[in-house]
Amino acid sequence: MDDFNIVSRIVRERGPLCPYCLGSLVGTLLKEFPNYVKGLSLSFILDRLVSSGKEACVICSDTISENVEYLLEKALNKLENIEYYSIKAGVILPPDIIEKEDRIRASYNPPNMESVKVTLIKWLDLLLSAKTGRHVSKEADVEVIFDFSLKDALIKVAPVFVYGRYRKLERGISQSRRICQHCNGQGCEKCNWTGKIAEGSVEGMIGEVIKEAFVSEDYVLHAAGREDVDARMLGMGRPFVMEIISPKKRRLDLEEISKRINDRWKGKIEVIGLRYSNRKEVAKIKEGSPFVRKLYRALVEVEGDISDDELEKLESSLRGIIKQRTPQRVAWRRADIVRTKKVYDVKTMRIGKNIFEMRVLCDGGLYVKELISGDDGRTTPSVSEILGKKSFCRELDVLEVLDNSQQVM
Ligand SMILES: [Zn+2]
Ligand SMILES: [Zn+2]
Repeated sequence: MDDFNIVSRIVRERGPLCPYCLGSLVGTLLKEFPNYVKGLSLSFILDRLVSSGKEACVICSDTISENVEYLLEKALNKLENIEYYSIKAGVILPPDIIEKEDRIRASYNPPNMESVKVTLIKWLDLLLSAKTGRHVSKEADVEVIFDFSLKDALIKVAPVFVYGRYRKLERGISQSRRICQHCNGQGCEKCNWTGKIAEGSVEGMIGEVIKEAFVSEDYVLHAAGREDVDARMLGMGRPFVMEIISPKKRRLDLEEISKRINDRWKGKIEVIGLRYSNRKEVAKIKEGSPFVRKLYRALVEVEGDISDDELEKLESSLRGIIKQRTPQRVAWRRADIVRTKKVYDVKTMRIGKNIFEMRVLCDGGLYVKELISGDDGRTTPSVSEILGKKSFCRELDVLEVLDNSQQVM
């Protein structure tokens, strides 16, 4: 039986169909819609297509046609202050519509039927595109959700991603924002209802400027590894992607924004090479390349004097394979395993009788403070072990994060 006969049977046996449900049953009416969209109001289209003005649609009880124009109007109002270049529709239908649709499908089995939801989404995509002049995309800047259950239109704004590298010029700045102590992250007046403290963190310092510029709700810093709070991050900086959540602006001059960040936090942090990015790069950056190596500068203090011979011995003996059990200071949040990492190069420079500066080029993920102290024998070899004297790290800086084999020392 063809579409026409099936639809006729349904209308005869069950009752009238609205254009949306009719379109869903035959899966083809949709092709006619674009011709109606241009320059015509929705009610005009509906007047033309609704077959019966007396009885309600047997599938949706006219819920769709009675609300679609109102919801569209509501959505367009909400979109007014938002910058976006692509759009897509989403639909939530009351469960009873889906039940009735299933029953019709089971009884008549129309060969070309597409679900009411899919039909409606395609139709609303066309309408939104025609009304806003933006193109429809699966990964759209905004998704408009037409909720026929709650009779509301919700706007979901896709995040914007910005890649860059940060330099941390001052010690005592953490990478992520801390949870607000006053409300335990629930949100209170002290934390501006965010549950987090922006001050004193790389995430917060970059994020607040970005949030202001993009008029966003929030932000998340995704970085390639992290340095300790008391370590600086120098050289070309550490790669990161900032995820800007629910932004009202999307395309800003990033050079101007990086200038704003660098002026505001002069001497504390700095960003370099901001450019637009995407979610894929977040995964890449968090995964980390197994080939990432890092160059550190450490100020080492030793219990007892050290000779030049000892420093020379240290340079040659520390190079090579390091076996490192998870440090005691992070054991509470990391699995207790033994990692094998490599030290590629060590250079030392005497500062005082028992103090020297050490530059270490090593695999990413090697804990350098423990490479110096030995962490009660959990890291071996270590500076303490090689010198036979207790040593500890007084200052630590990351000089470079390297992802290729360039020479740096
Ligand atoms: Zn209907
Ligand atoms: Zn709070």
